[in-house]
Amino acid sequence: MSKQIAFTVFLLIASGVFGYTVNRLISFFRITKRDFKIDNIGERTKTTLLVAFGQTKILRKPVIGLLHALVWWGFIVITIGTAEMAIDGVAGTERILQFLGPLYTLIVASGDIFAAIIIIACVAFLVRRHIMKVKRFEGVEMTHKSHWDATIALLMILLLMVSLMGMNMGYMQSVENYVGAFPVSAMFLGMISGMSPESVHLFHETNWWTHIVMVFVFLNVLPYSKHFHVIMSVPNVFLTDLKPYTKMHNMPAVTKEVELMMNPDTAFAAPPEGEEAAPPSRFGVKDIEDITWKNYVDSLTCTQCGRCTEVCPANITGKLLSPRKIMVDVRRRMKDKGPHFAKDNNYTDGKSLVGDYISKEELLACTSCNACVQECPVNIDHVSIIMDARRYLVMEESSAPNEWNMMFTNIENNGAPWQFSPEDRMNWAEGIQLKVNG
Ligand code: SF4
Ligand code: SF4
Repeated sequence: MSKQIAFTVFLLIASGVFGYTVNRLISFFRITKRDFKIDNIGERTKTTLLVAFGQTKILRKPVIGLLHALVWWGFIVITIGTAEMAIDGVAGTERILQFLGPLYTLIVASGDIFAAIIIIACVAFLVRRHIMKVKRFEGVEMTHKSHWDATIALLMILLLMVSLMGMNMGYMQSVENYVGAFPVSAMFLGMISGMSPESVHLFHETNWWTHIVMVFVFLNVLPYSKHFHVIMSVPNVFLTDLKPYTKMHNMPAVTKEVELMMNPDTAFAAPPEGEEAAPPSRFGVKDIEDITWKNYVDSLTCTQCGRCTEVCPANITGKLLSPRKIMVDVRRRMKDKGPHFAKDNNYTDGKSLVGDYISKEELLACTSCNACVQECPVNIDHVSIIMDARRYLVMEESSAPNEWNMMFTNIENNGAPWQFSPEDRMNWAEGIQLKVNG
């Protein structure tokens, strides 16, 4: 009974802290814009099954991708066991899901195998990060804090899996007719076979508590870590922008102006008599209050894996741009400004996302090739925010390079980027004898 009370109190505290953090994050969403439509549920579901659950994009790197995919699939299976532990802890029951019979055996056996695989994967990830020093994990945005964040999370996952297997061993050793199967833990049973029943009980309880406490500590650390993708990746993939990669979203305010110019008869409805037209909002993105809520979800989902930066032609050719940094900066800016701005929408700290976090040079380096979007394993759309920040630079700050300004003038005057009149466009073909087929 005392175990039940202690566990219930712990569960309430851990859930309360997690609820507080989630509520805080939701308050940041209220700052953002709502310009994102969730349509085509069928296509979204298919994408989620393939990319999020099937891990199709992560598997493009066969070896390390497979290890990562196994960790993800293992987490899904092990979460069923964690839910059972939470119910057992509150209700004082012993392996409450055992009524599932052979299915239960399958779940716990695969959970045991996955725990061993995850231990191997975590060791491999630590070696890659700290000994092999994979280039993809380097960059200005990859600070000491980012590396510590990754290392601490990997060590926590290791402890979670070791304690899970320890718990399985303690259970097998202490219960004569135990339910389920634990093929990997069984191989290590010799390590505790000489212990007294009291010591085995203590061994089991220590691992049980270590595992469940670590689950809740991990859950509460996640929102502050890059490992928040454990929670965010499935919803983010479901929210994928389904348009073709290189299709740009028009800005409604600009579309309206152009339509008015091209065809004044189809002018948008004037505001009702006595009411003034809404003041035009800022063009593009200057700061976090200009981003859409989907941009913010993207930033929370970023795993900092660097696959986007690795394929970015601007980054490869030595430019400052790193698409991963764009995501890191958006999240960092929201963390710095969000708590104040959520309480007072006149708050300013004299800084902005564009300028103080992301430089003009980075933004102008983007070729809009969308290689980053294509490569991102969690379907983050970097280009949307880069283009909107660039639109701010051009339309609000008139801060385009001279060559671009000349091109804009030509488009305005000549209907094309070239410096000659539309009537002269076919001059190059004068005197050429064209052969007409058919
Ligand atoms: S779209 Fe821009 S940021 Fe993305 S890979 Fe291409 S150049 Fe890099
Ligand atoms: S944006 Fe995507 S590809 Fe780039 S670091 Fe983040 S998760 Fe990885």
